[in-house]
Amino acid sequence: MSVNNDWMQRDLASLWHPCTQMKDHESLPVVPIRRGKGVWLEDFEGKRYLDIVSSWWVNVFGHANERINTRIKQQLDELEHVILSGFTHQPVIELSERLGRLAPAGLGHCFYADNGSSAVEIALKMSYHYWRNVGRPEKRRFLTISNGYHGETLGALSVGDVALYTDTYRSLLLDVIKVPAPDGFGLPRDQWVDQARVAFAQMEAALERHADELAAVIVEPLIQCAGGMRMYPPEYLTWLREACDRHGVQLIFDEIAVGFGRTGTLFASEQAGVRPDFLCLSKALTGGYLPLSVVMTTDEIYAAFYDDYSTLKAFLHSHSYTGNPLACAAALATLDIFEQDDVIVANRSKADLMGRLAEPLREHPHVGDVRQTGMVVAIEMVADKASLTPYDFRERRGLRVYEHALSRGVMLRPLGNVIYWMPPYVITPEELERVAEVTREGLERATADS
Ligand SMILES: *Cc1c(COP(=O)(O)O)cnc(C)c1O
Repeated sequence: MSVNNDWMQRDLASLWHPCTQMKDHESLPVVPIRRGKGVWLEDFEGKRYLDIVSSWWVNVFGHANERINTRIKQQLDELEHVILSGFTHQPVIELSERLGRLAPAGLGHCFYADNGSSAVEIALKMSYHYWRNVGRPEKRRFLTISNGYHGETLGALSVGDVALYTDTYRSLLLDVIKVPAPDGFGLPRDQWVDQARVAFAQMEAALERHADELAAVIVEPLIQCAGGMRMYPPEYLTWLREACDRHGVQLIFDEIAVGFGRTGTLFASEQAGVRPDFLCLSKALTGGYLPLSVVMTTDEIYAAFYDDYSTLKAFLHSHSYTGNPLACAAALATLDIFEQDDVIVANRSKADLMGRLAEPLREHPHVGDVRQTGMVVAIEMVADKASLTPYDFRERRGLRVYEHALSRGVMLRPLGNVIYWMPPYVITPEELERVAEVTREGLERATADS
């Protein structure tokens, strides 16, 4: 038996994989990875895969990055972990100070957890709790937009709207108000703002109607990633900030996927020129190395919890690995690279190239839309181009692209019918060209019989 096969069999006998129908692995290999370097992953037989999805959107500076490795190793010899209640440590303090300088001004307090879903839970609980603490306990509901994704725990699922993940658990979820999302799907870019304006009218109406019972609005700024890389313009966020202020409703930006340069700026909120009341970050925060998340919030919200213990206003939420020093060290090394290499500026020409390489795919008879925001490109396959009718999900067109790309050494993992590129920023032009070629082939194969 080959070495890869041996690992595969041991895996399937003992694991249960995330976001997977395990029966698929009767025909689909689970790929055992031995090591990674830069954008490349390598299996036990030396076959290499280009990680164009950044290992689920977390990796920004490549696998086994020397600078991040060194920082983690140094930290490991000093302190691997310490409780963050009553105690603190250098990496978590430095990271909080730096994030405070980088994020929209006024987000002066960092509350840590160890994954994105938990960060969303924290933001929801804090917002709800804030209103209780200031004597408005009736403000306890949340408002969001359709097709959003905020994680898998029950509170996060409640404010999400990707049916595949939420429908099964519907009866367990919070009663959340949803309005149609702004969505540039199928439209030329110069029409995105008009579309968003029409969608915003419903947001405005919902705020008007429910302001008295609303704690907060939560959205993914600019790109609804898990919802199929649907995109909308920053104007929507500017309007949303203004309307939330007018109606006395807090605003949560979930930048867990789009933060750290994905949209072309360090944070997506910069493009709208606004500051949310809560900013949730995770994924690329540690360069894709270790689990860490943070909720940043304002002095005003912090102050509403600050009182004598006996008033029971404190935020008593915690996770065992909150603010882990190794994860914070990885985050500090990641921020160093952003700064030292002027990454946001350097990414502009890469984003331009990604756009140029994707553009010809627009002509394909089964491509309904090619869209881009910064370092994210999405190519959406459709059954009928004129009407933009989607393929039936049971046809699993995306899976066909995935299988072809794997055979060609590219880890391209579509979301349903949406093929996307979300590479580590260390990808080279030649590597991007290869991805474009494999994408075109995969597209041909996946749509050949329709
Ligand atoms: C991935 C993601 C989450 C959840 O983060 P996990 O670390 O997977 O729990 C939340 N919001 C958005 C926008 C995400 O993309």
